[in-house]
Amino acid sequence: MKYVNKYIMYIMIFILIIFILPAICTKKLAGKVQREEKGKQNEEQTKESKDETIEHDYSKYGTIKLLHKENGQIEEFRIDEYLYGVVSAEMPANYEEEALKAQAVAARTYTIYQILNSKGKHREADICDDSTCCQAWISKEKRMQKWSEEEREKNWNKIVSAVNSTVGKIITYNNEVINAFFHSNSGGKTELASNVWIGGKDFPYLQSVETSGEDGYSQYSSEVTISKTDLLEKLKQEYSDIQIKYEEDECIKILDYTQSGRAKTVKFGNTEIAGTKVRSLLELKSTNFSIKLEGENVIFSVKGYGHGVGMSQTGADSMAKTGSNYEEILKHFYTGVEIMTI
Ligand SMILES: [Zn+2]
Repeated sequence: MKYVNKYIMYIMIFILIIFILPAICTKKLAGKVQREEKGKQNEEQTKESKDETIEHDYSKYGTIKLLHKENGQIEEFRIDEYLYGVVSAEMPANYEEEALKAQAVAARTYTIYQILNSKGKHREADICDDSTCCQAWISKEKRMQKWSEEEREKNWNKIVSAVNSTVGKIITYNNEVINAFFHSNSGGKTELASNVWIGGKDFPYLQSVETSGEDGYSQYSSEVTISKTDLLEKLKQEYSDIQIKYEEDECIKILDYTQSGRAKTVKFGNTEIAGTKVRSLLELKSTNFSIKLEGENVIFSVKGYGHGVGMSQTGADSMAKTGSNYEEILKHFYTGVEIMTI
């Protein structure tokens, strides 16, 4: 009996070695291969999704008709595909991911607001590609050419991912799409819409807000120096009766400022000119300027870049650098808003 038991035990060990162990090992190995393959598949899927617009049902906002200002042609895009061209034209790709996402959501919101509120502004088109009129847009081909070869792929993927990861998201106030203005650099404090566009109305979500960190960007400060004679000549083109007696004290003076500290009205000799008009006439980067007379010259020292209303792009990047996410950035620049998915 004893020997028989021992014999059976040997047979069982033999069976275990020959059949069961290899079976376990193969199964484990197979599992590993499967997992690896699944990982690879996921990787490929993410890679693919970077090159394609993510499917999202925008219902009536699914496509957008873009007017190319240069040739007057109208091109139709799916909204997120159009936004790749907007975000890549409006914000440097080396900005933080959360800043790019904030830009994507602001641009999507601005676009839908235009579709709803600017009927007839561009005939049958919804929006144009001129940054001074609507918002900038650039084709993928042109955008790629402007980037160096090494960073092309990486930059484009970063832009696409900012748009795709916020798919369907827009900014609302009281459940309505907001007029999501944005600009380059606020010079530290954003501006009210009514101070920029004469007769323009104010929106409760476009308040004047402060942002730190914008001074670290090149757009923060600039200077325009113009000779006293040239300045007078330039102003005469618009104001034929203008006279400036440079020998008099305060012949040029900022008379009043907006709530955010920008020049509202400027006195040039016998003529009062709106700060916004001075900005466009002298091509200043913003209305946040001070004026100094020095020898034969008049010097305009300018803070910030752009109209100053809504989200500051450099402010968004600076907030992202200190840990804010895109929702926090948007809620900082647009007062009392919600981020919703449409
Ligand atoms: Zn336009």
